[in-house]
Amino acid sequence: MQTLAFIGLGNMGMPMARNLVQAGYVVYGLNRSKEKEKTFEELGGRPAESLAAVAEKADVIMTCLPQPADVEQVLLGEKGLLQFPLNNPLIIDFSTVSPSLHRTVEEKAQRSGARYLDAPVSGGTTGADAGTLAIMCGGEEEVFKEAQPILDILGANITYTGPAGSGTKVKLINQYMVGMHTAAVGEALHLADQSGIDKSLLYQVLSRSFAQSRIFDRHYRDFIAEDKEEPGFALDLLLKDLGLAEQMAGEADVNLEAGKKVEDLFQKASDQGFGEKDMSTLYQFVKQRE
Ligand code: NAD
Repeated sequence: MQTLAFIGLGNMGMPMARNLVQAGYVVYGLNRSKEKEKTFEELGGRPAESLAAVAEKADVIMTCLPQPADVEQVLLGEKGLLQFPLNNPLIIDFSTVSPSLHRTVEEKAQRSGARYLDAPVSGGTTGADAGTLAIMCGGEEEVFKEAQPILDILGANITYTGPAGSGTKVKLINQYMVGMHTAAVGEALHLADQSGIDKSLLYQVLSRSFAQSRIFDRHYRDFIAEDKEEPGFALDLLLKDLGLAEQMAGEADVNLEAGKKVEDLFQKASDQGFGEKDMSTLYQFVKQRE
């Protein structure tokens, strides 16, 4: 059986890595804050201790990190993974970063004797927990086929999208729509409040109307109705994704007019201290602004 390593044991990475442990793999976990490595050990994982150890021990190395700069540092940095001697590992990045970064990483990984896939995910922490994520996977098709047994443990809806970076293009279009739906939910619920319409009544009716969406279900049912603000998916991560979608649109000569307004709204919410809260708190931001 292959030996695995998982770097970035956060809201997504921890349940994903745990599912691989539960499937019977030996999984080495590495995280910036060490208490998460301890939690992972309690779940049956092993501490990796360093990137050098990961490079030495693992056949498959996975990353799920917050920002493009984190992926660059961990994979390409001066003390990054690709600087160590590698035994032809398969590297899979589940983070949401830019398509161009993935193309660079693939090229450098191949030069260092490794294989590479970009495999951003959708389905949130519930999907990560249940092993039902949607995974959009870019890279060489043969490499994708090799990764499939592992992807099957983590997800239920796995799609090969084409060359490296293409998985991320699909993911960023998804995130663009998640941003639009999140803004729509926040402003619509605020409008209901201010117009004397009960939110739970609105949710009941709209859940059976054209305004129904998975984002409305997630935000209202799992967070707003429960007064829950802790992420989930941090508002700043969605702001990052909207910026990446905007950058991708620029490269494709596309003008995302509505998207710019939504990005601006999220930027303001972040500036007002909502960045580390769940993205559904855009509703609270809109409410307190007036
Ligand atoms: P998170 O902030 O909860 O977790 C990231 C983890 O990476 C943290 O534990 C952090 O300590 C660790 N980390 C950061 N830099 C590191 C480094 N240099 N070395 C080792 N560990 C490091 O973030 P998350 O919500 O798990 O999201 C991770 C990625 O997945 C992001 O790109 C996000 O956009 C994407 N994503 C998140 C969700 C979601 O619902 N949370 C859904 C789909 C995609």
